Amino acid sequence: MQVVLAAHKVTKSFESSGGVVSVLRGVDLEIRQGEFVALVGPSGCGKSTLLNIVGLAERSTSGEVFVGGTPIHAASEQVLRTTRRQKLGYVFQQFNILSTLTVRENVMVPLILNEMPVSRAAEEADHVLHRVGLAHRSDAMPYSLSGGEMQRVAIARAVVHKPLVILADEPTGSLDSAAGEAVLMLLSEQAASGVALLMATHSEAALKRCSRVVRMMDGALEG
Ligand code: ADP
Ligand code: MG
Repeated sequence: MQVVLAAHKVTKSFESSGGVVSVLRGVDLEIRQGEFVALVGPSGCGKSTLLNIVGLAERSTSGEVFVGGTPIHAASEQVLRTTRRQKLGYVFQQFNILSTLTVRENVMVPLILNEMPVSRAAEEADHVLHRVGLAHRSDAMPYSLSGGEMQRVAIARAVVHKPLVILADEPTGSLDSAAGEAVLMLLSEQAASGVALLMATHSEAALKRCSRVVRMMDGALEG
């Protein structure tokens, strides 16, 4: 299977009053289509920073990042934006659902950003909501959803535009175990259909669902 996400010798440093802090210290990682990779390590070791960099939300200090085989570390803001919109999907611990939009409208957002006509975007959103078991809630406002339902909306939104890669930062961190398990099932279904997933997690249950576990310590991957 093809490598769809790669980091080569990625470093990230931040300036602070006490000097330069090295958060990532030469990370090498390759993820293939259909792989479900768990990223584990103690709080503060750099997991979210790595997800932000390979998710193109933040630039590395040095090193290379490839999405779908295309080098992206030196790309323009315009290329980063279109790559984020077309090739990547995101799931966060806090769900990040827009509270003034309905469930369906939340899921339509990535399609609208990719300039799909509204009526077709609504159909595609309904299709994906059906797959995550929320067809009956498509007109609901987010405040009326449980945490587990909220995260299933976030997954629908992350996959609706058929990304190559899904990045998930502790997606089950604020869910009870049954809701967390449902979320993990949906993410593994995505991997089975060929999407590559990188998921930061603390959950032992999550590790069982993954095809590979990558351990991080002090800004570097072990092994
Ligand atoms: P994890 O997700 O594994 O808990 P993070 O990637 O969030 O770790 O953070 C790793 C380290 O980088 C922490 O010490 C954090 O304080 C630091 N850090 C993250 N973002 C910034 C920033 N924008 N400026 C300064 N330090 C940061
Ligand atoms: Mg984190």
